[in-house]
Amino acid sequence: MKKSVKKLAILGATGSIGVNSLHVVEKLADIFQVTALSTHVNIDLLLDQARKFRPRLAAIAGAEPTAEQRRLFEQLGVTVLTGPDSPARLAELADYDLLVNAIVGSAGFLPTMSALQRHKDLALANKETLVMGGELVMSAARDNNCSIVPIDSEHSAIFQCLMGENPQTIEKIILTASGGPFRTWSLEQLRQATVEQALKHPNWSMGNKITIDSATMMNKGLEVIEAKWLFNVPVDKIQIVIHPQSLIHSMVAFSDGSIKAQLGQPDMRVPIQLAMTWPERLGSDFPRLDFCSVKSMTFEEPDLTRFRALAIACTAAKTGGTAPAVMNAANEAAVGLFLERKIKFLNIAELIDTAIQTIAVVTSPSQEELLQADRQARAFVLQHYSHILR
Ligand code: NAD
Ligand code: MG
Repeated sequence: MKKSVKKLAILGATGSIGVNSLHVVEKLADIFQVTALSTHVNIDLLLDQARKFRPRLAAIAGAEPTAEQRRLFEQLGVTVLTGPDSPARLAELADYDLLVNAIVGSAGFLPTMSALQRHKDLALANKETLVMGGELVMSAARDNNCSIVPIDSEHSAIFQCLMGENPQTIEKIILTASGGPFRTWSLEQLRQATVEQALKHPNWSMGNKITIDSATMMNKGLEVIEAKWLFNVPVDKIQIVIHPQSLIHSMVAFSDGSIKAQLGQPDMRVPIQLAMTWPERLGSDFPRLDFCSVKSMTFEEPDLTRFRALAIACTAAKTGGTAPAVMNAANEAAVGLFLERKIKFLNIAELIDTAIQTIAVVTSPSQEELLQADRQARAFVLQHYSHILR
């Protein structure tokens, strides 16, 4: 029987998740066709990808291609869109069955909304979309009958644990966290943490922003909010457990006392492939987990004093309204400042907290109010960071 081909639009194609998604496409070339790709500024890599995957449409959000680059895209038959709104226009215009959203940050929000309004299914890596506007995103998915399958490894694990289960029987979601590179560091040491140290994640190789988020543990805070929306569970039913080996990717505890876990090597291609092939699970030759070579699996409670960002995120999740959008945008701006070496590691959480305390929360925000909260929080951090330096 001839397999049907799934057309993919991949946003953020030049990043860590984007490149891994294209790796999965190469392995399953008979079932996937890439019709659209986007980048922020990495135009040369986008051109290489266009040569290999022959999309019809490309978006470049943060730079203008040179005349030569334009000519090369044209030669390949690729129409190029440019500008900050080009990923959303791509999501509106391209011919695809599934949008893989691998953009980093709240820039992924509008493309997600555009895809859902066109009744398109999503493979979602861009967790910031759900943190910023989870309520609007999930209701757009419901209203337009779209599926959102998570790429984030923890959420893919929970999604898999919930297959065939009645959601009413969920007692608790157990979100595992590696603890990041600073898991055992004291507050005193954290005060002096450098960009290079924060970028050395023990188990995963990822883009810079999420790697810093893992070091502050804001990543786990974002993931609590992501899980709340994806699986419709209150924050109180989500428990974070530190599991430094990153072999159990997350668990679900059920009302009868049973717990299901999903395990595997830490390799993002596994959840990416599942999100792209769902509702089917196809074979792969990615490295297997051999239990006889696992030395130990350990578990710890997270420390909310050393990792203040985690506490801030749980509070923002409970406050709701625009609070998570403000937190997310303040975090993006503060992480940017840390990467530029303009603030210190602990200033990141401090700035986020101050932004949340200062900017008034709007309850049940519209799309425009969410975008406004995002802009306001970024502007606040950029204007105030010099005041908190000491
Ligand atoms: P990355 O920095 O490696 O790649 C980000 C991609 O987004 C790039 O293609 C870049 O060109 C594009 N981009 C950046 N800013 C943009 C903007 N303003 N407008 C449009 N495009 C923009 O990041 P990543 O590690 O691939 O992460 C992507 C998303 O996936 C993030 O939301 C992250 O939290 C999530 N995620 C990543 C991993 C991982 O292993 N890397 C795991 C789980 C979840
Ligand atoms: Mg994750």
